[in-house]
Parts: sequence; structure tokens; C-alpha cells
Amino acid sequence: MIKEIHQKLISQEVKIGDLVNVYCDNIKKRNGELNAFLSINKGSLLNQEIQNAETILHNNPEELLAGIPIAVKDNMLVKGLKTTAASKILEDYVAAEDATVIKRLKEKGAIILGKTNLDEFAMGSSTEHSAFGPTHNPYNLDLVPGGSSGGSAAAVAADLAVAALGSDTGGSIRQPASFCGLVGFKPSYGAVSRYGLLALSSSLDQIGPIAKNVSDCKIIFEAIVGKDNKDATTVSLVNNISPKDLKSVKIGLPKEYFVEGVDSEIKTQIDLLIKKLKEAGVSVEEVSLPLTSLALPCYYIIMPAEASSNLGRYDGLRYANPNGFNGKEGLLDYYLRNKGTGFGKEPRRRILLGTYVLSAGYYDTYYKKALQIQEAIRRDFNKVFEQVDYLITPTTPTAAFPIGAKTNDPLSMYLADIFTVSANLAGVPAINLNLGFNKQGLPLGVQLMAGRYKDFSLLDFSEQVERLLKP
Ligand code: GLN
Repeated sequence: MIKEIHQKLISQEVKIGDLVNVYCDNIKKRNGELNAFLSINKGSLLNQEIQNAETILHNNPEELLAGIPIAVKDNMLVKGLKTTAASKILEDYVAAEDATVIKRLKEKGAIILGKTNLDEFAMGSSTEHSAFGPTHNPYNLDLVPGGSSGGSAAAVAADLAVAALGSDTGGSIRQPASFCGLVGFKPSYGAVSRYGLLALSSSLDQIGPIAKNVSDCKIIFEAIVGKDNKDATTVSLVNNISPKDLKSVKIGLPKEYFVEGVDSEIKTQIDLLIKKLKEAGVSVEEVSLPLTSLALPCYYIIMPAEASSNLGRYDGLRYANPNGFNGKEGLLDYYLRNKGTGFGKEPRRRILLGTYVLSAGYYDTYYKKALQIQEAIRRDFNKVFEQVDYLITPTTPTAAFPIGAKTNDPLSMYLADIFTVSANLAGVPAINLNLGFNKQGLPLGVQLMAGRYKDFSLLDFSEQVERLLKP
């Protein structure tokens, strides 16, 4: 898609301004029913970006991203636009600078169309935990688009943006990509800078692209990847791989991911894909990740622990809180009122959980043990990737579920992440590809994983798999 649009822009068949207008019109037409965008870039800010993009394209016609309209999850800072994290506590906060990923996209001339809806502070799997109402799945408005980057996924699926940025702490790029029939890529931990991302769980968070195909994801990833002095976890990663012949590729199917509870249509379609891979010469073997069943409990200790300390900074005295300090109450009363009304139910649940597992007496029983399990999960993955090049698993146990189906049952909502959290715990790259559609016409997803920092190799293999998946 990006390459085709780029061709039209350099041949001047289409002007950048007109292209942006097409997407703005689509947003006007459909955002009312989808609620994918929380705020839209417009006026002089947008015009300036269009002008910049024109200059960049003029000076460097090779620049694929110049003029490409992109949506950004509303937990990343875009200078001059609101960044709410879909929370009342940040309702009026306007970012004073760009996140590193935004800076890098703008340097290439990408146009930031606006900010997309999410579960509050990226806590959720359905985008229903947004303080500004749920996002609807473009395939069926009664269903969730997945989450927490549900606004980004819905925007791309409904052609309200060419591609989008999401963040993924336990599956928030891959699961909505799966529910909306898209490609969603979570890079290795450390591949992309999180400077300017509102942190959920700092040892797990990554930013990555959601797009209609692997090539688009790769173009965006190449623009945002690499070392950043403002995020000490980043490393420099370069694309120095040459495409691998499928005949030399070894795939592992972790047996713990093909269990009861996985929708039979997903299983059947993965079987079909495996058959095609074997026909193309790929060798396929069953492997084991024995700690898989501990991944979800381990995640739901580490993530709330880190979230509870990250959210401590939202004390209402900073970041333009409409519920601000009125000077008439004591500080403690103020904190109680402000945090009690500013944070929604899910952040409050996680702050309570997180403070509990970090408290004296429980730290060793819960938090420390979870860290030990995380280390063991990492070792399991390292071992498996000595045996095989890539893993193939379902991304989610089911297709998109109805709005409201899981909101009163947090545990069943947490189970939506069962196949995605391990990649975050192990720090490895993982991607969702559209596997096909079920009988109701809803998209199904397949997840591919590779060893840490093998991001470019995974993207390359994904392009080959994508070709095999085309009907
Ligand atoms: N659904 C997971 C959660 O609620 C993952 C969230 C994410 O990746 N941001 O924690």
C-alpha cells in the first residue's frame, strides 16, 4: 500500500494535500460510529506537516513515508495534540514535545492524522476500558476491535489511516491486528525507543506498527527502529539480512499453544498454512515451551507492579488535570478525590494489585517469584530458538468478541492475552498476520515469533508467509 501510494505521489497523479483530505473525509464519515480517533490533527499544524512532507518528497523522492497519513495511539506524545491515554486524569493534557518515534516519522515526512482510542493507559484487550467510550470493530460494529490499540487497528481497517502506531505490553498490537484482519508487529524489547510513550509496564512495553501488509509494517519499523539516548534500553538494529530460502527454514510449533479452547476454525486454518509451508520446503517440528501456563499469572504480577509505580506520577497537580487542586481541601483529601475520580476502574484495579504484590511481606512471594519465572521463560525461548528459526502459534484463542461480553469478568478478559504475553516477557519480536476469515466473515490471526533482535529476519519470513496465505 505505502509503495503504491508513494508511486502516485512522485508521479504527481495525487497531491499530498488531496491524499490527506481523502483520509480526513473518511474520518468525518465513519469516526462517529467507530470511535477510532479521540482527536484529529487540523489547521495550521496539519498544513505545516503537509508542507514539510512536500519538501521532503521533493528533495528525496525515495522517501517512502513522505506524505503518508498515519494514526497514532493516544498514549504517545505528538507535539501540539492532546495525549489523554483515554483517561479522564489527562483529559486536557496537550503534549509539549514529540515522542522519539513521532520525531523519526516526521523527519521522513509522515503525516500524523490524529490520536486513536485505547483502553485507559493501555490496560485491556478490547478498547472498552476507555474513558471516552469503546471503539467498534469495522467488520461488525457490535464487536470489539481488540485492544488496547483498538482505535489504531479500527482506523487502519476502515481506511481512516494508511497505517498506525500501537504499543504492546502483553499483546496490544497483535491482538487488535488479529481482530481487525491486519498485520501488527511487536518489535524486540529494546528495538524501538519508548521516549514519549506513557509507560504502562516499563520492562515489557514496545511501540510498533499496525498496517495492511508486512511491507508497510517494515517501512514504518525501519523509520522508528534504533538507538535513542533518551531510552537506555534501546540498541541499534540494522537490516543486514538477505531473504532466506524457505527450504532452509525451520519452524517450531509449541505444543502448549495448540490446546483445547482454541477455536477450531483457527486450528484448521493454521494446519492449512503448515501444509503449504511444508510443500514450500520448510521443515516443521513440534517444540515445547514448558512454562507457557505460568506466563499469564507472571505477566499479571509484573505488569500491575510496574503500572502502579508508573501511574504514581499522575497526581493531578501536573499535566493539566480538569479536576485540579482547588486549595480548599487537604492534600490527602485532594489525592483521594482526584485519583478516585480521574482513574477508571481498570487502572484502579491494577494499582491495587500492583501495590499489593510490591508491599512488604508479599514482595518475595509474588513480585520476586514472578521475576524468576520471567527469567526461566526467557531461557525456554532461547533454548527453543537454538532448535528452530521461528515459532508459529495462534494469536488469540477466538475471533473478535461482542462488546460487553467480558467487561464484568476481568479474568476472562485477561485470558484473551494468553498467547501474546510470553513474547513480551521473553523480549522477543512477534507479529500477527491475517490467517483468513471464519464462517461469519470475521478475521482470524496467526502469530509468528523469532529470537530476540531477529526483527528483520522475522519480517522477511513474514512476507514469505503472507504470500502463501493469499488466496
Ligand atoms: N491486554 C493486556 C493487558 O491488559 C495487554 C495490554 C497491552 O499490551 N498494552 O495488560
